[in-house]
Amino acid sequence: MSETALRNTDIDTALAAAREAYVAANPKSLARYVEATAAMPGGNTRTSLFYAPFPVAIARAEGCRMWDMDGHEYVDFLGEYTAGIYGHSHPVIRKAVDAALDAGISMGAHNTLEAKFARAICDRFGFERVRLTNSGTEANLMALVTARAVSGRPKILVMNGGYHGAVFTFAGGGSPINAPFEFVLGSYNDFAATKAVIAEHGEQIAAILIEPMMGSTGCIPADRDFLQMLRDEATRIGAWLIFDEVMTSRLSPGGLQAKHGIKPDLTSLGKYIGGGMSFGAFGGRADILDRYDPRRADALPHAGTFNNNVLTMSAGHAGLTEIYTPDAAVALNARGDALRDKLNALCKAAGAKMQFTGIGSMISVHFTRTPVRNPADAGAADQKLKELFFFDMLEKGIWIARRGFFALCLPLGDAEYEKLVQAVEEFLASRQSLLAVD
Ligand code: PLP
Repeated sequence: MSETALRNTDIDTALAAAREAYVAANPKSLARYVEATAAMPGGNTRTSLFYAPFPVAIARAEGCRMWDMDGHEYVDFLGEYTAGIYGHSHPVIRKAVDAALDAGISMGAHNTLEAKFARAICDRFGFERVRLTNSGTEANLMALVTARAVSGRPKILVMNGGYHGAVFTFAGGGSPINAPFEFVLGSYNDFAATKAVIAEHGEQIAAILIEPMMGSTGCIPADRDFLQMLRDEATRIGAWLIFDEVMTSRLSPGGLQAKHGIKPDLTSLGKYIGGGMSFGAFGGRADILDRYDPRRADALPHAGTFNNNVLTMSAGHAGLTEIYTPDAAVALNARGDALRDKLNALCKAAGAKMQFTGIGSMISVHFTRTPVRNPADAGAADQKLKELFFFDMLEKGIWIARRGFFALCLPLGDAEYEKLVQAVEEFLASRQSLLAVD
């Protein structure tokens, strides 16, 4: 048998053993899952949470810890895919939610919280105006329909492999349930390919939508020059540049756009900014957002029953102004950079084909020595090793996404960081033979 074939057999054997141990350790989660399949397709209502053979169900969480139905304790290194930056039941968030509940919910009226929250968002991210939605998907949907309606142009440029929400999935080029817009695909960090697409579609393009670091696609930072090229090209062809900062807005006090010093026309937000409640927003230039001013004769409509729901308004405002202050953002991301450097140093010292990418508090693991600059590089990485890494981390009490994604939350302390470092060290040692060969 060739060396590669031998290694594949080894991985398959290791994975089979890891899965078997997982099934044996989680009987209550399995029973809950089987029951769930009767009412929910595949027992699921959020695709990204599913993994085979079945996902564990978390029964309780506090601070940076979670406990599943079978009593295992995990340190939460997933941080609800970036939405859980405050950890579980932060006292300031609890107080804000309680205060909102005490004053009554679902009032069908303007309330006293929404403008304060909007002001805090505008101040923080340098927006002239903002509108609130219920999710990041909805924020992107609104940003894109606005661009198309105002410009009268049909096309949207997105990056191949990108993700912008449930109906904006571009892994493998697209999805049958994507919103029915005319998307054209650029290639992340690839100047020539992307410029060629812009040259081909030119003034048909209403907007360029991009994450300044691909998040769920594997924490792949965009080169600053690539973003600047998109900024220049958007201006040249009269299209809007939209940064999807649903995840990345946490990476500096003013988001990744502030870190790079590049101003998009619109920005979509989501995740942690709602304080752990459902949230989305699109904001930026006043001349664009003011098309939604209902006092105007030519106003565009934008309804949404829960756009100003008081739980999100209250928790989001408290989180942004009292907890995740600009100083807190700088500190968390510096800790994330230091952690990633440490993990990468371990991989290097072990000579392993393993690396951790990302910026600040967002981290992804990849099993390749090739620098990951584009989803094609990440896609080539070894999926089986990612799955093995996931099960090994779970077994050591480290909660991450099945795809190898980490988002650091504020309550994680030095002891928890050290626990992760140790878990990765043990993985590098115990799986050494699988990580040596390219
Ligand atoms: N945009 C990006 C970059 C995201 O990562 C996500 C969610 O993961 C979304 C948009 C969609 O946000 P939501 O899940 O709140 O609809």
